[in-house]
Amino acid sequence: MQITPFGAAQTVTGSCHLVEHRDFRLLLDCGAYQGADEERNEEPFGFDPQHIDAVLISHAHNDHIGRLPLLLRRGYRGRVYVTEPTRLILPVILQDSLKLMQEERERQRRKGREAPPLPWDENDLAELYGRLEEVTYYQTQSLGPFRYRLRDAGHLPGSAFIQLEADDKTLIFSGDLGHRRKDVLTDPDYPAQVDLMVCEGTYGDRSHRPFAATLEEFADILNGVLSQEGKVFIPSFALERTQEILFYIRELEQREAIPVVPVFVDSPMASKISEIYPKVRDFFSTEVQHIYSHGLDPFRPKRLDYTQSVEESKALNLMKGPLIIIAGNGMLSGGRILHHLRHGLPEANNAVIITGYQPRGGLGELLIHGAETVRMFGETVRVRAKTHTLGGFSGHAGRDELLDWLDSEKRVALVHGEVDKLQSLGQALRERGKGAFLAEWGKPIEV
Ligand SMILES: [Zn+2]
Repeated sequence: MQITPFGAAQTVTGSCHLVEHRDFRLLLDCGAYQGADEERNEEPFGFDPQHIDAVLISHAHNDHIGRLPLLLRRGYRGRVYVTEPTRLILPVILQDSLKLMQEERERQRRKGREAPPLPWDENDLAELYGRLEEVTYYQTQSLGPFRYRLRDAGHLPGSAFIQLEADDKTLIFSGDLGHRRKDVLTDPDYPAQVDLMVCEGTYGDRSHRPFAATLEEFADILNGVLSQEGKVFIPSFALERTQEILFYIRELEQREAIPVVPVFVDSPMASKISEIYPKVRDFFSTEVQHIYSHGLDPFRPKRLDYTQSVEESKALNLMKGPLIIIAGNGMLSGGRILHHLRHGLPEANNAVIITGYQPRGGLGELLIHGAETVRMFGETVRVRAKTHTLGGFSGHAGRDELLDWLDSEKRVALVHGEVDKLQSLGQALRERGKGAFLAEWGKPIEV
């Protein structure tokens, strides 16, 4: 058996790997490229989608599922195997991608430019939904010459790492591995020793600080701002990060570590994800399940509101603090958070809390570096609000966790990371006596 990366090779996004054995072609993930690599999304896959026999998906993030509709548009006619939470979350993510593509084309048309046709549309989504098939963790399944098993990766509800066997050879594809020290999701399962491990290295160069310290800092920032009647703005990803922040606000309220204030989630996409969570409660940590079992919602602080319409969203700008607004998008490249920041940044008693990755040169990075003014909506905005960064909320395993997880492996192909981070992790693995190397796009690796 051999595996060939056709995405997330020496870069973070676009996860897509082809496994071949005895004329059977199995695709692991079919994700979109994001950020600087986005223009690669419509390039040829590097293989013929008509010749793929089956697709297995590790989890519902866009960089692991985002090119599935294009795969169908280009001729794939097989099944797509997913866990139950992935099946429920996937439509929310892909419909949002489609909406963003449509809005971008509309903007171009308004500027008098010719907009290229959409690479895929609602018809491809409908076709995809009909091809999804649910699989459960821990059960051994057969696909052509392969036997496979999904285990819990602890990164999203229903996230999996995939173990594949054929002719006495075994391969594991890590997908994305979760951050073991947080409380909402289960801890990642440990892998068996295999012939080849294909592992992510998003945080290959650094470990996260202990999560308790992050939580304490979060409470300190909230107390400081809320006691000054300020507003706290938390740009956040709609899937998982928003719900996790709600979980910890609720927990801090319970402990009376912060005051109870109005909390607004201003993201229609986050609202849709939050509605899915109670349906997949079995996929969360025992702590979350325990709260559910008492008839309570673990993701609901006392004064939580989900805003829906644009009018409701704008009305938040006129409200006085103390209050907390969680809004998308998490990378500050668009979405409702921008309107809140335009109104809120000039006030010295407000604060911005960054809990996720910010692209180079973006608004988030400018705020983190203490910019005194920023350009937004064609105007200059004074920045008097303070910006705090809480990296400990990361959804990925840190370097120490990756090294621990890979402890029993002998041969590791690294994917899903920037080159310097993968090189740093590869070096650490080689020092521990393992064969570790960076996977390359289009280059087959024999298992
Ligand atoms: Zn992910």
